[in-house]
Amino acid sequence: MSMDDEVFDAYREAGALARKVLRHGAGLVKEGTTLLDMVEETEQMVIEEGALLAFPLNVSSNDAAAHDTAMPGDERVFARGDLIKVDLGVHVDGYIADTAMTVDLGNHGQLVEASRAALEAAIGAVRPGVATGELGTIIQAVIEEHGYKPVGNLTGHGLDRYDLHGKPMIPNIAMNGGTILEEGMVFAIEPFATTGSGKVAEASRVEIYKQIAARPARLPSARRILETVRPRRGLPFSRRWVPGDKVEIGLSTLVRNGTLHPFPVLHDIPGSFVSQNEHTMIVTADGCEVTTR
Ligand code: MN
Ligand code: MN
Repeated sequence: MSMDDEVFDAYREAGALARKVLRHGAGLVKEGTTLLDMVEETEQMVIEEGALLAFPLNVSSNDAAAHDTAMPGDERVFARGDLIKVDLGVHVDGYIADTAMTVDLGNHGQLVEASRAALEAAIGAVRPGVATGELGTIIQAVIEEHGYKPVGNLTGHGLDRYDLHGKPMIPNIAMNGGTILEEGMVFAIEPFATTGSGKVAEASRVEIYKQIAARPARLPSARRILETVRPRRGLPFSRRWVPGDKVEIGLSTLVRNGTLHPFPVLHDIPGSFVSQNEHTMIVTADGCEVTTR
């Protein structure tokens, strides 16, 4: 077996597992269930299945588009009317599958259909020689046909070993040019449709971080954080995963000195609703193989 075959098989294994776990996790999103229970059960399933999380399970509600997850001791409960994005990343030996779906606890069927249909249309256009800007043009058109806006400042992205956000960038809005797709490229396409402004902003709350530099830390809580995240090899982690107390002071110290990068919760305007769908794929000679389907 060639090196490439082994790599693609790891992507396929991660993708099949991600599909199974995402469906299970989405099934746990029910009125009255706590977000914390749902997140912990879903994350645990990845470990039990013999893989690892590429990032903390993202569960983002209503106007939040991405980067939310359960807080330590989180008491939030899913409620009637909620629109819940569940975004899962798993990896096998560093090879990542990134996939997301939206669970509608209200009356948001067309909005969910907008991001789902945009994703399917973009996947249908993937093949060698196509420019990423064409995919963004398709995504915007399908979402607008459904009566919504695409979120312009969130994008799909290339995947590489232990690297979540490589090239190419896949825009969610019309663009000229971009990267020309080639056989063997691996990336995720993730359209977001919104009833809001079409642009997400950073909230003050941060649940997810990644390590971006190695520096000695003296503060005990900072040392404990770095011990916890060392096996992540730079992949994101959750504040909830760090044991012990004084985690907040450790995190803020490590962000200030450039050791950690924070990923604030991203949201559209208050009162808006955002939907998301995402798949990971490998470009083939005449199309693509979706690993997460
Ligand atoms: Mn994702
Ligand atoms: Mn992604």
